[in-house]
Amino acid sequence: MEMNDIATPTRTRELLNKYGFKFKKSLGQNFLVDPNVIRNIIDAAGIDETCGVIEIGPGMGSLTEQLARKAKHVLAFEIDQRLIPILADTLSPYENVTVVNEDILKANVKEAIDKHLSDCDEIFVVANLPYYITTPILMGLLEQHLPINSYVVMMQKEVGERLTAGPSTKAYGSLSIAIQYYTDVKRVMIVPKGVFMPPPNVDSLVVKLTTLPEPRVKVDDEKIYFKLTRGAFVQRRKTILNNYMSLFPNSKEYKDEIIAWLEESNIAPSRRGESLSLEEFARLANNIKNYPQIVI
Ligand code: SAM
Repeated sequence: MEMNDIATPTRTRELLNKYGFKFKKSLGQNFLVDPNVIRNIIDAAGIDETCGVIEIGPGMGSLTEQLARKAKHVLAFEIDQRLIPILADTLSPYENVTVVNEDILKANVKEAIDKHLSDCDEIFVVANLPYYITTPILMGLLEQHLPINSYVVMMQKEVGERLTAGPSTKAYGSLSIAIQYYTDVKRVMIVPKGVFMPPPNVDSLVVKLTTLPEPRVKVDDEKIYFKLTRGAFVQRRKTILNNYMSLFPNSKEYKDEIIAWLEESNIAPSRRGESLSLEEFARLANNIKNYPQIVI
Protein backbone atom coordinates (compact mmCIF):
# COMPACT_ATOMS: atom_id res chain seq x y z
CA MET A 1 0.00 0.00 0.00
CA GLU A 2 1.16 3.51 -0.66
CA MET A 3 0.63 6.87 0.98
CA ASN A 4 -1.66 8.19 -1.69
CA ASP A 5 -3.96 5.18 -1.98
CA ILE A 6 -7.62 5.91 -2.67
CA ALA A 7 -8.80 3.74 0.21
CA THR A 8 -8.09 6.22 2.98
CA PRO A 9 -10.51 8.70 4.54
CA THR A 10 -8.29 11.66 3.58
CA ARG A 11 -7.87 10.81 -0.09
CA THR A 12 -11.54 9.82 -0.45
CA ARG A 13 -12.66 13.12 1.10
CA GLU A 14 -10.28 14.97 -1.22
CA LEU A 15 -11.79 13.29 -4.26
CA LEU A 16 -15.34 13.90 -3.07
CA ASN A 17 -14.56 17.62 -2.74
CA LYS A 18 -12.63 17.87 -5.98
CA TYR A 19 -15.54 16.45 -7.98
CA GLY A 20 -18.42 17.65 -5.80
CA PHE A 21 -19.55 14.03 -5.63
CA LYS A 22 -22.64 13.22 -3.54
CA PHE A 23 -23.32 9.60 -2.56
CA LYS A 24 -26.44 7.97 -3.94
CA LYS A 25 -27.94 5.69 -1.33
CA SER A 26 -30.17 4.11 -3.95
CA LEU A 27 -27.05 2.75 -5.70
CA GLY A 28 -25.63 1.23 -2.53
CA GLN A 29 -22.71 3.65 -2.49
CA ASN A 30 -20.64 2.94 0.60
CA PHE A 31 -17.00 3.34 -0.29
CA LEU A 32 -14.24 1.45 1.47
CA VAL A 33 -11.69 3.68 3.18
CA ASP A 34 -9.53 1.07 4.92
CA PRO A 35 -6.48 -0.29 3.10
CA ASN A 36 -6.23 -3.29 5.45
CA VAL A 37 -9.68 -4.55 4.57
CA ILE A 38 -8.81 -4.21 0.91
CA ARG A 39 -5.58 -6.11 1.41
CA ASN A 40 -7.46 -8.94 3.13
CA ILE A 41 -10.01 -9.14 0.33
CA ILE A 42 -7.28 -9.33 -2.28
CA ASP A 43 -5.31 -11.92 -0.30
CA ALA A 44 -8.42 -14.10 -0.04
CA ALA A 45 -8.85 -13.95 -3.81
CA GLY A 46 -5.25 -15.09 -4.38
CA ILE A 47 -4.70 -13.12 -7.57
CA ASP A 48 -1.44 -12.94 -9.50
CA GLU A 49 -0.23 -11.39 -12.74
CA THR A 50 -1.79 -14.14 -14.85
CA CYS A 51 -5.34 -13.46 -13.60
CA GLY A 52 -8.21 -11.46 -14.91
CA VAL A 53 -10.51 -9.79 -12.41
CA ILE A 54 -14.08 -8.61 -12.83
CA GLU A 55 -15.10 -5.93 -10.37
CA ILE A 56 -18.69 -4.86 -9.86
CA GLY A 57 -19.09 -1.26 -8.76
CA PRO A 58 -15.58 0.23 -8.60
CA GLY A 59 -16.87 3.45 -7.01
CA MET A 60 -13.89 5.79 -7.00
CA GLY A 61 -11.45 2.96 -7.57
CA SER A 62 -10.26 2.09 -4.05
CA LEU A 63 -10.32 -1.66 -4.62
CA THR A 64 -9.73 -1.41 -8.38
CA GLU A 65 -6.39 0.29 -7.85
CA GLN A 66 -5.07 -2.52 -5.63
CA LEU A 67 -6.42 -5.15 -8.01
CA ALA A 68 -4.70 -3.46 -10.94
CA ARG A 69 -1.37 -3.68 -9.13
CA LYS A 70 -1.70 -7.47 -8.81
CA ALA A 71 -3.72 -8.77 -11.72
CA LYS A 72 -3.11 -8.98 -15.43
CA HIS A 73 -6.29 -7.13 -16.27
CA VAL A 74 -9.23 -5.65 -14.36
CA LEU A 75 -12.64 -5.26 -15.96
CA ALA A 76 -14.93 -3.06 -13.87
CA PHE A 77 -18.66 -2.45 -14.35
CA GLU A 78 -19.93 0.81 -12.87
CA ILE A 79 -23.52 1.97 -13.36
CA ASP A 80 -23.08 5.55 -12.11
CA GLN A 81 -22.01 7.75 -14.97
CA ARG A 82 -20.81 10.46 -12.55
CA LEU A 83 -18.04 8.13 -11.42
CA ILE A 84 -16.61 7.52 -14.89
CA PRO A 85 -14.51 10.74 -15.11
CA ILE A 86 -13.39 10.26 -11.50
CA LEU A 87 -12.22 6.72 -12.28
CA ALA A 88 -10.45 7.97 -15.40
CA ASP A 89 -8.52 10.27 -13.08
CA THR A 90 -7.83 7.93 -10.15
CA LEU A 91 -6.94 4.94 -12.32
CA SER A 92 -4.88 6.86 -14.88
CA PRO A 93 -1.60 5.26 -13.69
CA TYR A 94 -2.91 1.78 -14.61
CA GLU A 95 -3.05 0.61 -18.18
CA ASN A 96 -4.55 -2.76 -17.34
CA VAL A 97 -7.98 -1.52 -16.24
CA THR A 98 -11.12 -1.30 -18.37
CA VAL A 99 -14.08 0.53 -16.85
CA VAL A 100 -17.43 -0.14 -18.47
CA ASN A 101 -20.31 2.24 -17.70
CA GLU A 102 -23.01 -0.43 -17.54
CA ASP A 103 -25.52 -1.99 -15.19
CA ILE A 104 -24.05 -5.38 -14.26
CA LEU A 105 -27.55 -6.88 -14.33
CA LYS A 106 -27.93 -5.92 -17.98
CA ALA A 107 -24.37 -6.22 -19.25
CA ASN A 108 -23.26 -9.01 -21.56
CA VAL A 109 -20.55 -10.30 -19.24
CA LYS A 110 -19.65 -13.25 -21.45
CA GLU A 111 -18.90 -10.94 -24.36
CA ALA A 112 -16.91 -8.58 -22.13
CA ILE A 113 -14.82 -11.49 -20.82
CA ASP A 114 -14.08 -12.61 -24.38
CA LYS A 115 -13.13 -9.09 -25.34
CA HIS A 116 -11.02 -8.04 -22.36
CA LEU A 117 -9.92 -11.10 -20.40
CA SER A 118 -9.37 -13.78 -23.03
CA ASP A 119 -5.61 -13.86 -22.42
CA CYS A 120 -5.95 -14.45 -18.67
CA ASP A 121 -5.33 -17.90 -17.17
CA GLU A 122 -8.02 -17.62 -14.54
CA ILE A 123 -10.85 -15.20 -13.91
CA PHE A 124 -12.07 -13.98 -10.53
CA VAL A 125 -14.82 -11.70 -9.39
CA VAL A 126 -13.72 -9.39 -6.60
CA ALA A 127 -16.14 -6.77 -5.37
CA ASN A 128 -17.60 -4.70 -2.60
CA LEU A 129 -21.09 -5.29 -3.95
CA PRO A 130 -23.97 -2.83 -4.11
CA TYR A 131 -25.93 -4.54 -1.30
CA TYR A 132 -29.40 -3.87 -2.67
CA ILE A 133 -28.78 -6.29 -5.56
CA THR A 134 -26.40 -8.86 -4.06
CA THR A 135 -28.64 -11.84 -4.84
CA PRO A 136 -29.53 -10.99 -8.45
CA ILE A 137 -25.88 -10.20 -9.21
CA LEU A 138 -24.56 -13.50 -7.84
CA MET A 139 -27.37 -15.68 -9.13
CA GLY A 140 -27.24 -13.98 -12.51
CA LEU A 141 -23.52 -14.62 -12.91
CA LEU A 142 -23.67 -18.20 -11.59
CA GLU A 143 -26.59 -19.20 -13.77
CA GLN A 144 -24.73 -18.07 -16.88
CA HIS A 145 -22.00 -20.66 -16.24
CA LEU A 146 -19.27 -18.14 -17.00
CA PRO A 147 -15.61 -19.17 -16.83
CA ILE A 148 -15.19 -17.63 -13.37
CA ASN A 149 -13.09 -19.58 -10.85
CA SER A 150 -14.12 -17.82 -7.70
CA TYR A 151 -15.91 -14.84 -6.25
CA VAL A 152 -14.60 -12.88 -3.29
CA VAL A 153 -17.43 -10.56 -2.49
CA MET A 154 -18.45 -8.29 0.34
CA MET A 155 -22.12 -8.12 1.22
CA GLN A 156 -24.48 -7.36 4.04
CA LYS A 157 -23.67 -9.72 6.91
CA GLU A 158 -27.16 -11.27 7.07
CA VAL A 159 -27.04 -12.16 3.38
CA GLY A 160 -23.54 -13.60 3.73
CA GLU A 161 -24.81 -15.77 6.57
CA ARG A 162 -27.60 -17.08 4.39
CA LEU A 163 -25.08 -18.05 1.72
CA THR A 164 -22.99 -20.07 4.15
CA ALA A 165 -25.83 -21.64 6.18
CA GLY A 166 -26.51 -25.38 6.41
CA PRO A 167 -29.80 -27.26 7.00
CA SER A 168 -31.83 -26.68 10.19
CA THR A 169 -30.38 -23.26 10.89
CA LYS A 170 -32.27 -19.99 10.85
CA ALA A 171 -30.32 -18.58 7.93
CA TYR A 172 -30.72 -21.66 5.70
CA GLY A 173 -33.06 -21.21 2.77
CA SER A 174 -33.46 -21.39 -0.98
CA LEU A 175 -30.65 -18.85 -1.45
CA SER A 176 -28.21 -21.03 0.54
CA ILE A 177 -29.20 -23.96 -1.65
CA ALA A 178 -28.91 -22.09 -4.94
CA ILE A 179 -25.45 -20.73 -4.10
CA GLN A 180 -24.17 -24.02 -2.68
CA TYR A 181 -25.47 -25.83 -5.76
CA TYR A 182 -22.88 -23.98 -7.86
CA THR A 183 -20.10 -23.19 -5.40
CA ASP A 184 -18.15 -24.00 -2.26
CA VAL A 185 -18.79 -21.20 0.20
CA LYS A 186 -16.40 -19.88 2.85
CA ARG A 187 -16.58 -16.96 5.23
CA VAL A 188 -13.54 -14.71 4.89
CA MET A 189 -14.15 -11.99 7.47
CA ILE A 190 -16.64 -9.71 9.13
CA VAL A 191 -16.17 -6.05 8.29
CA PRO A 192 -17.50 -3.38 10.66
CA LYS A 193 -19.56 -0.42 9.43
CA GLY A 194 -16.89 2.09 10.38
CA VAL A 195 -14.54 1.36 7.46
CA PHE A 196 -16.97 2.74 4.90
CA MET A 197 -17.83 6.23 3.81
CA PRO A 198 -20.69 6.78 4.51
CA PRO A 199 -21.11 3.89 6.97
CA PRO A 200 -23.94 1.50 6.02
CA ASN A 201 -26.61 0.53 8.58
CA VAL A 202 -25.35 -3.02 8.89
CA ASP A 203 -22.09 -4.91 9.32
CA SER A 204 -20.67 -6.69 6.31
CA LEU A 205 -19.27 -10.10 5.53
CA VAL A 206 -16.71 -11.03 2.92
CA VAL A 207 -17.46 -14.42 1.43
CA LYS A 208 -15.49 -16.56 -1.00
CA LEU A 209 -17.43 -18.68 -3.46
CA THR A 210 -15.36 -21.20 -5.41
CA THR A 211 -17.12 -22.47 -8.51
CA LEU A 212 -17.54 -26.25 -8.55
CA PRO A 213 -16.55 -28.07 -11.76
CA GLU A 214 -20.00 -29.69 -11.72
CA PRO A 215 -23.03 -28.65 -9.67
CA ARG A 216 -22.91 -30.17 -6.18
CA VAL A 217 -25.81 -32.53 -6.84
CA LYS A 218 -26.96 -34.18 -10.02
CA VAL A 219 -30.48 -33.23 -11.05
CA ASP A 220 -32.36 -34.15 -14.21
CA ASP A 221 -34.14 -30.81 -14.41
CA GLU A 222 -32.78 -27.69 -12.68
CA LYS A 223 -36.06 -25.84 -13.09
CA ILE A 224 -37.92 -28.46 -11.09
CA TYR A 225 -35.12 -28.60 -8.52
CA PHE A 226 -35.22 -24.88 -7.85
CA LYS A 227 -39.01 -24.83 -7.82
CA LEU A 228 -39.00 -27.52 -5.16
CA THR A 229 -36.31 -25.85 -3.06
CA ARG A 230 -38.07 -22.49 -3.16
CA GLY A 231 -41.46 -24.11 -2.53
CA ALA A 232 -40.19 -25.84 0.61
CA PHE A 233 -39.49 -22.54 2.38
CA VAL A 234 -42.59 -20.53 1.53
CA GLN A 235 -43.90 -21.15 5.05
CA ARG A 236 -40.88 -22.08 7.09
CA ARG A 237 -42.77 -23.44 10.07
CA LYS A 238 -44.93 -25.76 8.03
CA THR A 239 -44.05 -29.33 7.11
CA ILE A 240 -42.64 -30.20 3.73
CA LEU A 241 -45.94 -31.95 2.93
CA ASN A 242 -47.99 -28.85 3.69
CA ASN A 243 -45.65 -26.60 1.74
CA TYR A 244 -45.89 -28.87 -1.27
CA MET A 245 -49.66 -29.17 -0.87
CA SER A 246 -49.71 -25.40 -1.48
CA LEU A 247 -47.16 -25.57 -4.28
CA PHE A 248 -48.85 -28.07 -6.58
CA PRO A 249 -52.07 -26.84 -8.15
CA ASN A 250 -53.80 -30.26 -8.10
CA SER A 251 -52.50 -31.40 -4.70
CA LYS A 252 -55.91 -32.10 -3.13
CA GLU A 253 -56.66 -34.77 -5.68
CA TYR A 254 -53.26 -36.40 -5.46
CA LYS A 255 -52.23 -36.12 -1.81
CA ASP A 256 -51.51 -39.87 -1.66
CA GLU A 257 -49.13 -39.60 -4.60
CA ILE A 258 -47.35 -36.66 -3.00
CA ILE A 259 -46.88 -38.64 0.21
CA ALA A 260 -45.68 -41.67 -1.78
CA TRP A 261 -43.20 -39.50 -3.69
CA LEU A 262 -41.82 -38.04 -0.43
CA GLU A 263 -41.53 -41.48 1.11
CA GLU A 264 -39.88 -42.99 -1.95
CA SER A 265 -37.33 -40.20 -1.64
CA ASN A 266 -36.80 -41.06 2.03
CA ILE A 267 -38.24 -37.79 3.28
CA ALA A 268 -40.75 -38.07 6.11
CA PRO A 269 -43.72 -35.86 5.15
CA SER A 270 -43.70 -34.40 8.66
CA ARG A 271 -40.23 -32.88 8.28
CA ARG A 272 -39.77 -29.18 7.78
CA GLY A 273 -38.36 -27.97 4.48
CA GLU A 274 -35.52 -26.24 6.30
CA SER A 275 -34.14 -29.60 7.45
CA LEU A 276 -33.55 -30.92 3.92
CA SER A 277 -30.07 -31.00 2.42
CA LEU A 278 -29.22 -30.27 -1.21
CA GLU A 279 -28.95 -34.04 -1.81
CA GLU A 280 -32.41 -34.66 -0.40
CA PHE A 281 -33.96 -32.01 -2.64
CA ALA A 282 -32.14 -33.61 -5.58
CA ARG A 283 -33.75 -36.96 -4.73
CA LEU A 284 -37.15 -35.33 -4.70
CA ALA A 285 -36.51 -33.57 -8.00
CA ASN A 286 -35.30 -36.74 -9.69
CA ASN A 287 -38.11 -38.96 -8.34
CA ILE A 288 -41.00 -36.71 -9.22
CA LYS A 289 -41.08 -38.10 -12.74
CA ASN A 290 -42.36 -41.37 -11.24
CA TYR A 291 -45.52 -39.49 -10.22
CA PRO A 292 -46.85 -37.95 -13.42
CA GLN A 293 -50.12 -37.08 -11.64
CA ILE A 294 -48.34 -34.36 -9.64
CA VAL A 295 -48.44 -31.12 -11.58
CA ILE A 296 -45.58 -28.77 -10.81
N1 SAM B 1 -15.73 -0.58 -4.91
C1 SAM B 1 -16.01 0.68 -4.27
C2 SAM B 1 -15.45 0.67 -2.87
O1 SAM B 1 -15.34 -0.42 -2.30
O2 SAM B 1 -15.14 1.73 -2.35
C3 SAM B 1 -17.52 1.00 -4.25
C4 SAM B 1 -18.42 -0.06 -3.65
S1 SAM B 1 -20.07 0.48 -3.40
C5 SAM B 1 -20.57 -0.59 -2.08
C6 SAM B 1 -21.01 -0.21 -4.74
C7 SAM B 1 -20.74 0.37 -6.12
O3 SAM B 1 -21.58 -0.32 -7.07
C8 SAM B 1 -21.06 1.84 -6.31
O4 SAM B 1 -19.99 2.45 -6.95
C9 SAM B 1 -22.32 1.87 -7.18
O5 SAM B 1 -22.43 3.01 -7.97
C10 SAM B 1 -22.12 0.61 -8.01
N2 SAM B 1 -23.37 0.02 -8.54
C11 SAM B 1 -24.61 0.05 -8.01
N3 SAM B 1 -25.48 -0.64 -8.77
C12 SAM B 1 -24.77 -1.13 -9.82
C13 SAM B 1 -25.10 -1.92 -10.98
N4 SAM B 1 -26.35 -2.34 -11.16
N5 SAM B 1 -24.13 -2.22 -11.86
C14 SAM B 1 -22.85 -1.80 -11.65
N6 SAM B 1 -22.48 -1.06 -10.59
C15 SAM B 1 -23.41 -0.73 -9.68
